[in-house]
Amino acid sequence: MEKQAKIYVAGHRGMVGSAIVRQLEAGGYTNIISRTSSELDLRNQAAVADFFAEQKPEYVFLAAAKVGGILANNIYRADFLYENLMIEANIIHSAFQHGVTKLLFLGSSCIYPKMAPQPLKEDSLLSGFLEQTNEPYAIAKIAGIKLCESYRSQYGANFISAMPTNLYGPNDNYDLQGSHVLPALIRKFHEAKVNGQPFVEVWGTGSPLREFMHADDLAEACVFLMNNYDGEQFVNVGTGEDLTIRALAEMVKDVVGFDGELRWNTEKPDGTPRKLMDVSRLHAMGYKHKIDLPEGLEKTYQDFLKNEEVYVG
Ligand code: GDP
Repeated sequence: MEKQAKIYVAGHRGMVGSAIVRQLEAGGYTNIISRTSSELDLRNQAAVADFFAEQKPEYVFLAAAKVGGILANNIYRADFLYENLMIEANIIHSAFQHGVTKLLFLGSSCIYPKMAPQPLKEDSLLSGFLEQTNEPYAIAKIAGIKLCESYRSQYGANFISAMPTNLYGPNDNYDLQGSHVLPALIRKFHEAKVNGQPFVEVWGTGSPLREFMHADDLAEACVFLMNNYDGEQFVNVGTGEDLTIRALAEMVKDVVGFDGELRWNTEKPDGTPRKLMDVSRLHAMGYKHKIDLPEGLEKTYQDFLKNEEVYVG
């Protein structure tokens, strides 16, 4: 990408999109465009087509999506499937029609079969059954990958996909019903500390394993791929390291400084037993993450303290 290229970041208010905008700005890119959801409803085909016809972006980062944690995915199954399919289909098709030079689509590690061998290799896609709790979201993300692959093979469009692991960082969702585990734990331990509660309720058994990457590292990887990768195969993006939810909870507890007890509510689902990315393809290209989990947690708790009003209301 030339520094003056017109770059559209879809989803710039979200955790991933905002990190990509920060990364681009820091890298000296000067012509970044974005629209809030009230300015442009990405589920509306005609509105998206008009936007591309008028703006003619050269590069697109597709970071807009309806996202959420295990509970939200499991409850709002229709919304997760429908909204994500519409957003992807509208943007990818318009990008093709209006001759976008290159597009990067962001998927998710939940595209892989529940029982796929770990660490998850790109080749495991569609080799088995998906995890039930987030199957609709995963199906939508798989459709996004296939759209990129298909516009490439049928029309020669340079559309690539990156599959990030579980992410965390500024502008995460801290709503306890809708969020992922890491922001939920930060908020729960913080509030328990402030309110002097003796215990915090944590979901599931604590035994599932998860990998976490800071959104700033993902954003750096996305810009790296946009500048260096033109292949057909999508690319996993992660740290290549995981830990149990129990170990994560202990780490967050220490960072926040809560000294009460953890109570595991096993009525709540565990989800996939393990979701570790094989990141050898990304590493072989020359990208490796920079922020490790202890440092990232510390930064994220500081960001939460600074923006608690915004995040929690
Ligand atoms: P997943 O990676 O798609 O399963 O989504 P989550 O990040 O929501 O959940 C990861 C794991 O953390 C699951 O085993 C949850 O049961 C567990 N977990 C423990 N406490 C919480 C919590 O307060 N919120 C969420 N979302 N998950 C929690």
